[in-house]
Amino acid sequence: MGRISRRATKALLEPFPNESRQFLAVRLGWWSTLDESEQLRMEDLIRVFLADKTIEGVVGYTPGEEVRLLIAAQACLLILGLDYRFYDDVSAIVVSPGVVVQRGPRRLDGGVVSDDHPALAGQAMLHGPVLLVWDRVANDARHPERGHNVVFHELAHKIDMRNGAADGVPPLSTSLTERWGEQMPALLGRLRAGSPMPIDAYAATNPAEFLAVATESFFVTPAELRSAEPDLYRLLRDFYQQDPVGRLGNRPGPEPNKQGGRKWKPTPSES
Ligand SMILES: [Zn+2]
Repeated sequence: MGRISRRATKALLEPFPNESRQFLAVRLGWWSTLDESEQLRMEDLIRVFLADKTIEGVVGYTPGEEVRLLIAAQACLLILGLDYRFYDDVSAIVVSPGVVVQRGPRRLDGGVVSDDHPALAGQAMLHGPVLLVWDRVANDARHPERGHNVVFHELAHKIDMRNGAADGVPPLSTSLTERWGEQMPALLGRLRAGSPMPIDAYAATNPAEFLAVATESFFVTPAELRSAEPDLYRLLRDFYQQDPVGRLGNRPGPEPNKQGGRKWKPTPSES
């Protein structure tokens, strides 16, 4: 759960705009796979996220409401089954309309993760902002079949950094710690040894990139990931506490949606 700001508490008192709901359903293919209780929780998370976090442009660019909404919705999908506190360290998202050219040496010491792989463009900084290139965000949304999503990728880095450095080990439940410690390094080892996996080869870079890239596949092309790498799929399912493959048959039908999801109630901040 976790505390939210007064602004966020106030935002929750307003109804989620109908046009936003329709916009998300059109633009995000996975939105309609969420059941009713998941959609309601997403709507809460998105309102809190938009009120709590700064989503701003680089100098000379102002992201519009639709850009902000799409980024917030994709960021919130990752924590749909987690505690909102996973994003305590996400204070600002900086959006650039096009590719950012970095000059000078890059520090890659676990505190900053820069992604300049051709398929990705973003950066996640420990105790700092997330940088997203809107070109890539929009392109990933247009082509989900490619399995990439730079928003999921960079926010997965922030979730990984939640307990310190970006090392591929996010905060885990006790029951998951042992499995994660055994299976994740083995899976990365297999990928590095040339074993084909339905995830981008960039995942072989290091454990942090392995988690971020696998997270993209888990949410964008989950059926492919589960059938080719069931162990990896199960680890991510148990960590994120979501089963995207199980949702695929969940398209809205005439019968009422089941109410199986856990209820999420925000705790107002006392400050
Ligand atoms: Zn990365």
